[in-house]
Amino acid sequence: MEAGKPIEDIRREWGRRLLILAHHYQRPSVVAHADAIGDSLELARLAAREKEAERIVFCGVHFMAETAEMLTAEDQTVYMPDVRAGCPMADMATEEQVRVAWSALCEQGGDWLPVVYVNSSAAIKAFCGEAGGSACTSSNAAKVFEWVFGQGKRVFFLPDEHLGVNTAADLGIPDGAVAVYDPEPGGTRPGRAALRAARVVVWKGYCHVHTSFGIDQIRAVRERLPEAKIIVHPEVPREAARAADAHGSTAQIVRYVKDAPRGSTIVIGTELHFVSRLADEHAGRVAVRALAQSVCGNMARTTEQNLLALLQSWPDENIVRVREQTARPARACLERMLELG
Ligand code: SF4
Repeated sequence: MEAGKPIEDIRREWGRRLLILAHHYQRPSVVAHADAIGDSLELARLAAREKEAERIVFCGVHFMAETAEMLTAEDQTVYMPDVRAGCPMADMATEEQVRVAWSALCEQGGDWLPVVYVNSSAAIKAFCGEAGGSACTSSNAAKVFEWVFGQGKRVFFLPDEHLGVNTAADLGIPDGAVAVYDPEPGGTRPGRAALRAARVVVWKGYCHVHTSFGIDQIRAVRERLPEAKIIVHPEVPREAARAADAHGSTAQIVRYVKDAPRGSTIVIGTELHFVSRLADEHAGRVAVRALAQSVCGNMARTTEQNLLALLQSWPDENIVRVREQTARPARACLERMLELG
């Protein structure tokens, strides 16, 4: 069934009482119906500012919709077209594991602050808020790390090892001052000496969409397209981030392509739906290519069909809820992130 027209009819009927937000990695057919498209930080800011919409439909993954739910007012309801759209990276840090790790760090000294990537559950954000830390996105991770260092403290970053490692390197922190904590049973944990030397401890989590980019692909592009510039997302492993011409968040990649001179070629290492949309938007001005074909299957769970089904019947099971007990401290760590910019 053709879904585009009925979706637009419903949007017109609801007017400003309905807001559809879409992450950059969504399918083009879904993005076409969004009131706003953005990365995690932009969408969190929009959700926090939105006052008119009674219903907010979040086309993205679960942690993003949870974030929107915690930042919107009580009389606003957040829905997802497919609530099974999760993020495997966010699932790599459970509350129990994080509390065990935090106790181990604090036993070695009390000068740590947690920084949680928004790609984490509400429970992990609640832990972070209780401990006085902040959330961050890939757009503002460096600012949040500097906020911690400015207080004379050290960073406990989770759950993405690579964003933590790449952000530390951007701030000039040597690799020897970054320790990796593996939460799995039998996983390697930093010993006393490594912890004493560490300014940053990173959780051993990863995004499979971004760890599929490596230096072999970058070398191949350099041979094939020597004039091309290569930009990758900071969730890629450090070797790939260092071999590329630049690395940056989704919003920074958007700017990089916009600012590229006419006739140039940009090769991008991030999610394929987003790269393809940039390629279409800049066709004829800049040649945009994918470093490799890497799709986020969870982002792709949202389709025009399940978006239409949601808008037609508003099932309760598509509502995203966070218990207030969790939301209160989690909100504190999200609001700190928004204040830090
Ligand atoms: S791209 Fe990676 S981090 Fe983003 S939602 Fe998909 S799995 Fe999670």
